[in-house]
Order: sequence, then structure tokens, then C-alpha cells
Amino acid sequence: MKTLVLLILTLISAAPAMAQEAPAPAAERAPTILISIDGFRSDYLDRGISPNIAAIAAQGTSAPMRPSFPTKTFPNHYTLVTGLRPDHNGIVGNSMIDPRRPLVKFSLGDPRQALDPFWWDEAEPIWVTAEKQGVRSATMFWPGSEVPIHDSRPEDWQRFDQNVTGRQRVNAVLDWLRRPADIRPQFITLYFDTVDTAGHRFGPDSDDVNAAIRDVDGEIGHLRAGLKAMGMQANIVIVADHGMRATDDARVIQLADILPLDSFIMVEGGPYAAVEPAAATDTIVYDALLQPHDHMNCQRKEDLPERLHYGSNPRVAAIICIAEAGWTILAGEPPYPVTGGAHGYDNNDPEMLALFAASGPDITGQAPGTFDNVDIYPLLARLIGITPLASDGNSALAEAVTRR
Ligand code: AMP
Ligand code: ZN
Ligand code: ZN
Repeated sequence: MKTLVLLILTLISAAPAMAQEAPAPAAERAPTILISIDGFRSDYLDRGISPNIAAIAAQGTSAPMRPSFPTKTFPNHYTLVTGLRPDHNGIVGNSMIDPRRPLVKFSLGDPRQALDPFWWDEAEPIWVTAEKQGVRSATMFWPGSEVPIHDSRPEDWQRFDQNVTGRQRVNAVLDWLRRPADIRPQFITLYFDTVDTAGHRFGPDSDDVNAAIRDVDGEIGHLRAGLKAMGMQANIVIVADHGMRATDDARVIQLADILPLDSFIMVEGGPYAAVEPAAATDTIVYDALLQPHDHMNCQRKEDLPERLHYGSNPRVAAIICIAEAGWTILAGEPPYPVTGGAHGYDNNDPEMLALFAASGPDITGQAPGTFDNVDIYPLLARLIGITPLASDGNSALAEAVTRR
């Protein structure tokens, strides 16, 4: 009997090595859950108020993650699932204009544009590639997941609705995982928006942000408890799209003080500004903006520093201005109160650093330190067992985190 037990134990302990040589068939793999907590700054984890995320980091790994420029929600969510920087994935801002569609502006709040594949088809998100390779996906919200990109959506997806509570979102994920193996998704996304919303309204150091962190952490605890109750192991990869920085209305750069408001189109404003001169006023706008300014730096898109990897896409506006940390660039009245918090600054700003924490049966090593968010895509591809498309990311993170 004792020898039999020993034999079984030896076989079990040999299993991971065997799995590495020949990847497990999709149905036998642990599912991968990609969780985004919008605006969860990397150092929020050190506040000691998110025990479930801390447990995931302790059992697995965590590191600060550098977002891509511009440090906005839609560009970075698309980078995370394509491995391509915004300049290459086509979602170059939360708002943008394409010269092929003059007079039309893409913005998050306008479903007619935000749900049109025209804007998304420059890249292929991992759920589309996964479906093509026979791996089933389901999305409990993710920018782009509602759009038929390359004619394909995740097998299960939901139209974005802020009113769906965190608990409902987690329960939807658990329901998907309760399905029989042949219709169970192998790759799932889950998205929380409340930490970002509180960060904008009350600033990153507010009690409201801490309450939102506690709440989302509790939902991640509910997810872990649900997985445990059904005896299921999953790879959980938690990310954020960017950080958050305190802003106030005493630190405002008003473009109306520099230029006539009808001489340009402000495609996007705030911590960075995308400015398109109106046709007849090119010289006035270039002359006024390209000279030195207090608290902001404006450049032609072709002159932006290499490290930003930004400016080659025709959708990037002609002039990009980046505010000094904590400052806000406006053209006329602000569309929302400035005092609170914002993101969109240079991606080298330490307060733009985003959360990364992961654990699960295939998370066996440590992240090497701060890394670029384009490297998440090769890690996801490895975890779900698909061949990734070419990307801006490299496999160093994937190798370190899945090392046995
Ligand atoms: P930002 O303006 O960059 O802070 O964007 C964050 C906001 O994007 C969140 O508060 C959400 O309301 C919104 N958002 C997130 N996902 C989606 C989506 N799939 N569709 C539309 N809006 C979204
Ligand atoms: Zn965001
Ligand atoms: Zn935000």
C-alpha cells in the first residue's frame, strides 16, 4: 500500500515537468482570468487594504507595470490584449480623428463610433486569435470586446454597463466556469471601473479611492472563494491600464490664453492634449504651441521622443502637448471638474505605473521588475496555449513568470 501511495505521489510530482514538454490539451488546461482594475496605481497595493490581491501577489508574483503612452483607458486596454502600442494598435486615444473619416470623432461615450470595427481592425485582440486556434473566450467587459473585430467577437460577451455591480460581474464569470468542459471558456476577462472613477472625482489619496479598492478586492475574494468551492484552479492575472495623479484647478494651462479657440480642434485634453490645427490657421497654431511654455511641452507628432513610441499613426493629431505632472491642459471650459485626479501623462511618470499581480498553477516564477505593458500579451498567449501574433512585447516576462 505504502509503495502504491509513493508511486502515485511520484507520478503527481512528475506531472508539471511532463506538461512542459508537451503542452496540455486545451480542455485540461487551467483557465486564465485576466482582471483589469481601471486606474489601480501600482503603489495602491502597498496601502495594505487589499488582502486578496496581496495574497495573489504573495502566492504568485507582482511588479509595477509601465503603461503605454497616452496613459488612457482605451489605448492601454487594447495594448494589453494585442501586445501592440497604441500607435500600432490603432486606438491612439480615448478620443481620436481619422483623416479617412473627417468630421467624425471616436470617443468612449459615442457607441456609434466606439462600436464600429473601423477603429479596431488595425489589430487583433487575443480573444479573436484564441477563437481561431480553438480556444474559447468570454469577456465580462473589456474595451473592444463588444465589437466584431476581424468579424469575430468572444464566444460570450456583454455590452458595457457601469450599473452591473462588481458582484454580478464576478458571478457571471463563475457561472461560465461552472459549465461543462466542452463549452467552458478557457480565457476570460473581468473589468472593474470604480477605482478609476473614485480617483478622478476625489483624487488618488482620498478615502473614496480606498473604499473602492477595498470593495474591488472583496469581489476578487468572492471570485477566489467561488473557484475554491468548485475545486477549480485558475491562472489569475490582474492588471491596471494606468495609474492616477492628483490634479487641481490651480494648475491649469489654458490654450484659449495662447490661441483663438476656433483656430484648432482639441481632439483630447487633460494631462496630454491632441491638437489639430484648423486648415487655414496652421502657422498660427504651430507658431504658438511649438515654442516653450510653462508646465507643458508641445511637439509635432513626428518629433516626439522615440521612447513614447507614438506619432506614426495617421490618427495621432498633428501636435501633441504633454502637461507637467499634476497640470491640466484645457481649451475653454473643462468638460468635467479638474480638481481630483487624472491620467494621460508621460508613461515614465511613476504615478502612471499600473498594477500587475498574478498567481495560479502555471505562475511559477517571479516578474523581473518594472516591465512594459506590451509584455502581458505574450504571457497570456503562453498561459492559454496559443501561438501569439507578432507584437511589440517580448517573452522575457512570460519566461520569468512561468519558469519551473
Ligand atoms: P477614462 O476616461 O480613461 O478614465 O476611462 C474610464 C472609463 O471608461 C470608465 O469609467 C468606464 O466608464 C469607461 N469604459 C470602460 N470600459 C468601457 C467600454 N467597454 N465601453 C465604454 N466605456 C467604457
Ligand atoms: Zn482607465
Ligand atoms: Zn480614468
